[in-house]
Amino acid sequence: MFPRLLCLALGSLLLLHAQPQADRDLARSIYKELIEIKTGYSTGATTPAAEAMAARLRTAGFPESDIHLGGAAPHKGNLVVRYHGTGARKPLLLLAHLDVVEAKREDWSFEPFVFREEGGYFYGRGTSDDKAQAALWIANLIRYKHEGFKPDRDLIVALTADEEGGGPYNGVAWLLKNHRDWIDSEFSLNEGGWGEMVNGRKVANDIQVSEKYLLNFRVEVRNKGGHSSMPVPDNAIYHLSEALVKLGHFGFPMKINEVTKVYFAELAKIEKGPITADLAKVSEGSLDAMKNVAAASVAWNATLRTTCVATMLEGGHALNALPQLAAANVNCRVLPEESIDFVKTTLEKLFADDQVKVTVAGEVLRGPASPMRADILKAVKRVTDSMFPSVATIPMMVMGGTDGRYLRAEGIPTYGVQGIFMDRDDFRAHGRDERMLVTSFYEGQSFLYELVKQLASGH
Ligand SMILES: [Zn+2]
Repeated sequence: MFPRLLCLALGSLLLLHAQPQADRDLARSIYKELIEIKTGYSTGATTPAAEAMAARLRTAGFPESDIHLGGAAPHKGNLVVRYHGTGARKPLLLLAHLDVVEAKREDWSFEPFVFREEGGYFYGRGTSDDKAQAALWIANLIRYKHEGFKPDRDLIVALTADEEGGGPYNGVAWLLKNHRDWIDSEFSLNEGGWGEMVNGRKVANDIQVSEKYLLNFRVEVRNKGGHSSMPVPDNAIYHLSEALVKLGHFGFPMKINEVTKVYFAELAKIEKGPITADLAKVSEGSLDAMKNVAAASVAWNATLRTTCVATMLEGGHALNALPQLAAANVNCRVLPEESIDFVKTTLEKLFADDQVKVTVAGEVLRGPASPMRADILKAVKRVTDSMFPSVATIPMMVMGGTDGRYLRAEGIPTYGVQGIFMDRDDFRAHGRDERMLVTSFYEGQSFLYELVKQLASGH
C-alpha cells in the first residue's frame, strides 16, 4: 500500500507544482472569453475570437511581428502566433479550431454562449470541442513566456476557422495555401484524442494517429416515369430502395492496421469482462474475434472496417406520377488504407443493378496516417504515467475527421492528444448542454504544458 500512496501523493504534488493558481485563473478566463464569443460556423464569426486571443498575447508581451491574423473571408479569421526557440529542430505546431457547431437556446437547458460553472462542470458550446484546447494552448504559451522557457524548436499556436463546416473558409486549408511559412512544422498536436473515463474512473489516454477519410456518394436512379394509374415494376424508387436495403445489411471487410492493432492490444489490457479475450485476438488478426468485437460496440465496428450509410433521400416529382428520379446520399467513412475506387466498386457490386448509378459527390481529401513515432508516443506515455498512474496510453484511429487531414495530406504528421478526460458514455460535443469536467480542464492544462515541454526540450 505504502509505495502506491506515496506515488499518488507525489503525483498530486507534481500537479500542484505544475500549475500555479495564477495560470489556472488565466486559462479559465481565456476559456470563458472564447466560449462567450459566438463562433458557430454558419451564424457566427471566428475573427473576434482570433482578435481577442491576439490581444491576450500582446498584453503578455508577444511582439506584433510574431502574431498573424488572416483568413479566407473577413469574418473567418485565424490566429497564428510563434514562440521562438533555439531553432535546433523544426517547429512544433499546436492546433485548435475556434469555430463551433451551432447551438440554439431552445435546444439547450440554458444559454449555450454563456460560460457556466456548475456541479463540477463547465458548460457552454465549445467547452469540449474545441475551445478548451484553444484556451490551453494560449494560456500555456503565455506561461512559457513568463517562465522564460527556451524550447529547442519554435512553438506555433494556430487557432483556426471552420473545422466544423469545412468548405471554402477552412482555416488550416487557407493557411497551407496562403501562409505555409506561418505554420510550417515538423509535426502538429491537435484535437481528436482524449482521455476516456468509465463511471468516473480514468481508463485510457488516447492519442489519435490516423483517421478515416470521408467519402460521399450520390446513388441515383433515373426512369422515364409515367402516369401513376398505370404502374410498372421498373420504378426508380424501387430500384433505389432495393439497393439501400442491401446496403443496410452489408458490412465491409474487417481488418486491422498498424494503429488499430496496437489500439486493440492496449484495450485488451484495460477492458473487463468476456470481450477481453476477443480484443486480444483481434490484435492478432483473428476474424472470428473481429466479428464478436464489432457486434459488441458500434465504435469498435467502425474501427475495424469502412462503413457506408444512407443519410439523405430525394425522389419523385408529383403525387400521381411514376418517379423519374430517386437518389440517396451515401456517406462513407473509409479506412485510410482503402481507396476511393475500392469503395465505389464494392457498392456497385453489392447493388448489382446497372440502373443504379454510383458517383463520388464533392471533394475527397485523403491523407496518410501519421507515422507511429516512438518519440512522440513515449512522451505522451511518460506524461500520462506521471499524472495518471495506471492509465493506459492508447494510439488510435478515429472515425470522424479533424483538420489533421489537411496537414497530413501536406506532409505535416498530426497527432490528436489532449489529456482531457471525458466520460465515454456522456459525449456531448455537437450536442445539447455540452460540458467539460472542471478537473479535466485543469488536468489538460498541466498535461499539455508538460507534453509540449518534453517535445521541445533536450536538443
Ligand atoms: Zn472539433
